Amino acid sequence: QDLDRGLEKTKATFFGRLSKAILGKSTVDDEVLDNLEEILVTSDVGVETTLRIIDRIQKRVSSDKYLGTSELNRILREEISALLDETSTGKLIVGFDFPKRETPYVIMVVGVNGVGKTTTIGKLAYQFREAGKSVVLGAADTFRAAAVSQLEIWAERVGVPCITQGMGADPASVAYDTLKSAISRQADVVIIDTAGRLHNKVNLMNELSKIRKVMQKLLPEAPHEVLLVLDASTGQNAIEQARQFTAATEVNALALTKLDGTAKGGVVIGISDQFKIPVKYIGIGEKMTDLQPFIKEEFVDSLFS
Ligand code: GDP
Repeated sequence: QDLDRGLEKTKATFFGRLSKAILGKSTVDDEVLDNLEEILVTSDVGVETTLRIIDRIQKRVSSDKYLGTSELNRILREEISALLDETSTGKLIVGFDFPKRETPYVIMVVGVNGVGKTTTIGKLAYQFREAGKSVVLGAADTFRAAAVSQLEIWAERVGVPCITQGMGADPASVAYDTLKSAISRQADVVIIDTAGRLHNKVNLMNELSKIRKVMQKLLPEAPHEVLLVLDASTGQNAIEQARQFTAATEVNALALTKLDGTAKGGVVIGISDQFKIPVKYIGIGEKMTDLQPFIKEEFVDSLFS
């Protein structure tokens, strides 16, 4: 139900327009396909992904000339599901509960300011804690004073420790301290906040790779997860950010925030298709509980319900 609420605007816009596009049409003809193409592009699915979907539907139309518009929802749903299948969470932990581990599971969180990075970290910490896991946060976004204090506020709210060295400290040193502290506390999860200064790409690359390297001195497989946070309501901007961050560091998971306030939910489909990186979490509100693991079936069900 939360997911349905979160996707409300996307559903209303997308399907409202879809039903208009096929009004009075009984079969899927070129005009219907053109309309569908436009709707997908303007729902922020992205041009490449839209063309792929249209192409696949066209193939089905040419093998069945009398394909009814009443079938369009089902077909579209199948094609979107198939696209999302190609991205998989692989070795990543899915959900908030997982078996006890010997060493902490390390999540390094990247993304530009304002996308909801701190909020997502707070929500993650809360939900892991609710699932009985011990969490340690690391304030390695030392570039902005506000970033450190915001994270500390979340840590206090959730009731988890937050390791800081204040503003201007070496981010890698903060990450090292955080992981060291987590290992000695036998914590289950470590979440490291990082600065997202995209305008200086070389700095960003160096900083992130240094954070990785120092953590690997303590735990060779860290970070297990590099989670890129993107604001879904920025549509194509989010795609551009994904392009830049994936060029700067190895990203293996995505969190898409602010789906609740936007009709651009289609961006979830475009981003996972274009970057072949699994969407792991979606943010559907400002509360601690408003973060959900992304489950393909649930997402598609909700979109088409
Ligand atoms: P940061 O600069 O990336 O760390 O961004 P913040 O975590 O401070 O979030 C920026 C704003 O977005 C805050 O007002 C958050 O409450 C809001 N926000 C974050 N995630 C969501 C979400 O999933 N839905 C909504 N509606 N707002 C969100």
